[in-house]
Amino acid sequence: MVVDAGAGLMVGEDGELPLPWIADALAAALGTQRGHALLLHAAPGSGALPFALTLAQAWLCEVGGVAGGARRPCGRCGSCHLVQARVHPDLRVLLPETLRREHDWPLADDKPEGDEGKRKPSRQIRVDEVRGLIDWVYKTSARGHGKVALLHPADVLNLQSANALLKTLEEPPAGTRVLLTTADPAQILPTVLSRCQRLRLADPPREQAAAWLAHQGVAAPEVLLAACSGRALDALALARAGVDARAWAAVPPAVARGQGGVFAGWPVPRVVDTLHKLCHDAMARACGAPTTFFAADAVPAQAALPALSAWSRELDRIARHDEHPWQEALLVDALVQGAAQALAACARRTPQAGSAASPAVRRLDTLPR
Ligand SMILES: [Zn+2]
Repeated sequence: MVVDAGAGLMVGEDGELPLPWIADALAAALGTQRGHALLLHAAPGSGALPFALTLAQAWLCEVGGVAGGARRPCGRCGSCHLVQARVHPDLRVLLPETLRREHDWPLADDKPEGDEGKRKPSRQIRVDEVRGLIDWVYKTSARGHGKVALLHPADVLNLQSANALLKTLEEPPAGTRVLLTTADPAQILPTVLSRCQRLRLADPPREQAAAWLAHQGVAAPEVLLAACSGRALDALALARAGVDARAWAAVPPAVARGQGGVFAGWPVPRVVDTLHKLCHDAMARACGAPTTFFAADAVPAQAALPALSAWSRELDRIARHDEHPWQEALLVDALVQGAAQALAACARRTPQAGSAASPAVRRLDTLPR
């Protein structure tokens, strides 16, 4: 799973927006919002969290700055500085523990970490965190400019947490706004959906995303945008993880030769995701269709579809167990050997040749765990 980056992207001191493509949605949210609960629908990697934080900052801004004719957070007032420092007393942000740790987001209430370091971090927003949020909502605003509760993403509210939130969504105290984000409204309970006004954050045009990535110092941004299905923040995360355009382009030929070293230092979920993309592009080439993620001339064109299908199913199986304590080096080596065999299985061979998992793929079942 590629995690949405972006908690570090914030409004500048001059009121400059963290992402240029959020301007219209921000103006729409500030100009038309009627209710006190807003559900932001944004595709993964398009910037849901930076946008939600910008909107919260605009609501809390004590100057109500005007930049370019549209109302935006000023970036300079005391309230804006507190949001930027992640310590605004009237903004409560609930993230699942996995995201909170990844972005180094401070815990609410200055609670000590307790035993959190000893157990696996939660991927859900837990009910005790929602109850803490509800207690906080009913306290008086510290700075007198209202309060904002932000839950990102609301998809990871479990049933108990969502039910605990319903009354607050329906009737929050005066001056309190609740902001939820989702990549897929179908994942949100109907009882939550019906209490929220909805707002869509449009995906950035490819050229705008590429220009923004170049401004962030990413070289050949079109290559990484293709690698990430056009998801700008995922492309930035990939670049910041050390995978530049050259490293990405090196993947297909290295995998075809069975050279697992190309993935040295990569986490297993990213290796599996990348092999899935290579498998997809090899299938596209085998069918005479254009590739999506890699340059067409880097992807073998003659692989056999049955072998590619077996490879794809094996990758699905590994992806479902991405939290399994694999021995990573052995797993990556086996994955690359399986990939090389699937890519080498030629369409001219007998149809049965690639229909079963290759020996290297079968070897995954016997790996020590
Ligand atoms: Zn301000």
